[in-house]
Amino acid sequence: MKTGQYKKIGLLGGTFNPIHSGHLKAAELILDKIGLEKILFIPSYVPPHKGLTDMAAPYHRLNMVKLAIAGNPVFEASSLEIDTEGTSYSIITLGKIRNRYPYSTIFFIVGIDTFLEIKTWKEYKKVLKQCSFIVISRPGYHLEDAIKVMEGKYCRNIYEYQDDQELQDAAKIKNGIILFRIQALDISSTDIRRRLAAKEMIKGLVPEPVHAYIKKHRLYQGTS
Ligand code: ATP
Ligand code: MG
Repeated sequence: MKTGQYKKIGLLGGTFNPIHSGHLKAAELILDKIGLEKILFIPSYVPPHKGLTDMAAPYHRLNMVKLAIAGNPVFEASSLEIDTEGTSYSIITLGKIRNRYPYSTIFFIVGIDTFLEIKTWKEYKKVLKQCSFIVISRPGYHLEDAIKVMEGKYCRNIYEYQDDQELQDAAKIKNGIILFRIQALDISSTDIRRRLAAKEMIKGLVPEPVHAYIKKHRLYQGTS
């Protein structure tokens, strides 16, 4: 597929350890409401903010992402961060994506839990300048807290949308921060790993092919 042809691209980064139905539901809703033409799922290589215990190998996490999104041609798995085999910084990843898609508006999609840590990101002000953010709600967190972590000029650029509203004025949100209130699923990879280690059911929490992959490769058995 020729690059540079999308008007709006979403980036969904994460450890995806493993990818789950909460990620997929959020991505589907955003795709639909914001009218993105592509969402890149980007598993991180060495996550800057997490320890490595219970972390599946990068290729396993990438394979699970591929399996999970196989049914939706607008979703794409990106090995960009995994291929660098070093710490993944959003500012670097964003630069690479901007080079590859110079004519696209780029939307960084993050859960509110992740956004609340944005000030710990390397060169976060540059990241905020170079793309738009879609911050999605997550059970246990308050979406409005995004405003508290931003000060001054960034606050002027925060917009709040409910999931029953259409977001049509794309120009308005260029380099903005969109707080996107969705009915997020109460699912986390941490809970899935805990359940697997305790031999509990994870049915419905991950797509079936991901579940089969986890079983086949005996991931998250509580031995790491
Ligand atoms: P972990 O428990 O290991 O941190 P996680 O479930 O938070 O895993 P990540 O890979 O850390 O998954 O998340 C990637 C991105 O997806 C983050 O921006 C996170 O906020 C968002 N996200 C994760 N789960 C959900 C969910 N259930 N609903 C909405 N967004 C989510
Ligand atoms: Mg997380």
